[in-house]
Amino acid sequence: MRSLDSFSKVSLGIFPTPIQRLDNMSRTLGTNVYIKRDDLTGLGLGGNKVRKLEYLLADARQTGARAVFTTGGAQSNHAMLTAAAAGKMGMRPILILKKRGVTELLGNRLLESLMDTEVIFMDTDDYTDIYAEMDRIGRGLGVPYYKIPCGGSNALGSLGYVSCAAEIREQGIHFDHLVCAEGSGGTMAGLALGAKLFLPGTQVHGMMVDTEPFDKITPALMREAAALLEAEVSVDPGDFILHDMCGPGYARPSEEGGEAISLMASLEGLFLDPVYTGKAFAGLIKLAREGQFRKTDNVLFLHSGGAGGLFAVR
Ligand SMILES: *Cc1c(COP(=O)(O)O)cnc(C)c1O
Repeated sequence: MRSLDSFSKVSLGIFPTPIQRLDNMSRTLGTNVYIKRDDLTGLGLGGNKVRKLEYLLADARQTGARAVFTTGGAQSNHAMLTAAAAGKMGMRPILILKKRGVTELLGNRLLESLMDTEVIFMDTDDYTDIYAEMDRIGRGLGVPYYKIPCGGSNALGSLGYVSCAAEIREQGIHFDHLVCAEGSGGTMAGLALGAKLFLPGTQVHGMMVDTEPFDKITPALMREAAALLEAEVSVDPGDFILHDMCGPGYARPSEEGGEAISLMASLEGLFLDPVYTGKAFAGLIKLAREGQFRKTDNVLFLHSGGAGGLFAVR
């Protein structure tokens, strides 16, 4: 297997992110709840995309790119952070966003306007239209450009979360369960592969916040990332457990998500977001209430960021 250090990476954030025990939450849920603070990754308002972008933008730089395209919904945390990271590295970010969700200058759109980011909206539900438009615009730029897929969720981006699993091992606490949101798949795929390699005995749970076929997307991405790492591992059905926490739809707040946000805010003074982490933590609460965790279990929740989403409610 290749070592993670053999992949080039740009330094965008502050690592390792802390792991904290949530004492009040642990008492309330009857198990040991810990939180991995990837909301504190140190660029923009933090979040999981920083780890992926460290690999993706290193690749962009190696290809000589002067412009970087990416996409997502109107309030994409990934798109905003890509703009922040590319701008910092002296590359020109261009966002082609789906005209879905809150397009006004609220939340992440406000942050993009503060960075003077070029944003183009496309009225489509199909990302293939958007990638074609990136090439159309890119060819007209007359400089090399680089395309990052939605959520930064390709094999290279997923390495950010393989390395997060290695980081968790270094932090020294054994976790019986690791819970994260699944939106485009790279985070879960990286963690599930990383857990196989570095965290034996840790069960990974993906809380789905969209309706894509994650039962296929996740193992496919795990295999691609394993191939990139030249790791001799087989991907098995037991490597991760998926739970449907989408509720009324992607980026549409759910009742359980809202309760989870309030509970975390009032007990621990930490803020989850309505699109990803609120729904994901609602999934953790649900498992605790169903008795799926023992009193003595250590359960780690990945706080993957998303603060901008709290300020983008119509
Ligand atoms: C993108 C995102 C996720 C989901 O990560 P994926 O790798 O896209 O599945 C979770 N939380 C937040 C805050 C995000 O922005």
